[in-house]
Amino acid sequence: MIDLSNKTALVTGGSRGIGRDIAISLAQAGCNVAVSGRDLDTLKSTTDEIENLGRKALAIRCDVAKENDVAEMFRNFLEVFPVMDILVNNAGITKDGLIVRMKEADWDDVIDTNLKSTFLCCKEAARPMMKARCGKIINITSVVGLIGNAGQANYTASKAGMIGLTKTLAREFASRSINVNAVAPGFIATAMTEKLPDTERLIANIPMARFGKPSDIANAVLFLASPLSDYITGQVLTVDGGLVM
Ligand code: NAP
Repeated sequence: MIDLSNKTALVTGGSRGIGRDIAISLAQAGCNVAVSGRDLDTLKSTTDEIENLGRKALAIRCDVAKENDVAEMFRNFLEVFPVMDILVNNAGITKDGLIVRMKEADWDDVIDTNLKSTFLCCKEAARPMMKARCGKIINITSVVGLIGNAGQANYTASKAGMIGLTKTLAREFASRSINVNAVAPGFIATAMTEKLPDTERLIANIPMARFGKPSDIANAVLFLASPLSDYITGQVLTVDGGLVM
């Protein structure tokens, strides 16, 4: 049983899908949790569930691609919670297309939302975590950041970039007992994968012969957020039913 009683966490993109499950799992383990997204109303169902578990919850409106929004999100968080023990960089988008047809705006949107946001949030988290001389940063990347995927140049570049950033920050922060790791999901059943065509063909390539559930990712995050992983840093934990090995 993982016990995160009285710990505090910020989960970006906590309104639905994987982020929502991560936030609720952390709260079930005893954590007080803030969730962010671009729309405050859609965060309410997550914060209601966290409060029903008897934990403190906070919803923060923030477009993680914008530096000022991220700075304001951290100010809000640290006004309510005394320290930041856990940061989960989960917010992410796709804007797929073959590179010959990919617009510059679609490249920029995906890189800014997935990769620049992780840089901005880690930079903001560095000061309070270094001061506390502890912290857990978990970046939600993707297996396609490891192996590439036709039609996702922007997304795969952003997710591969997150892996490089994870390893660099693991080295920069290790002496302060701050762990920085990444979780690389395979295909997980959420709004993001709902629109995928030909799911039968995709499932045929997964040894476990099914899409994962958001809770499969939340379980991995829980481990990396807990003292059980204190000697693990700079790693990418693949959670994909055996798709990439
Ligand atoms: P999802 O259901 O589409 O949820 C995405 C979350 O990110 C939402 O809460 C969304 O809230 C938030 N978000 C998007 N853009 C944002 C922005 N600019 N600022 C702040 N929040 C933003 O996606 P998901 O499937 O749960 O994916 C979560 C993470 O897992 C992503 O990083 C994704 O790349 C990664 N992942 C997913 C899969 C999969 O198969 N589902 C596989 C590999 C990796 P708002 O729209 O309200 O802002």
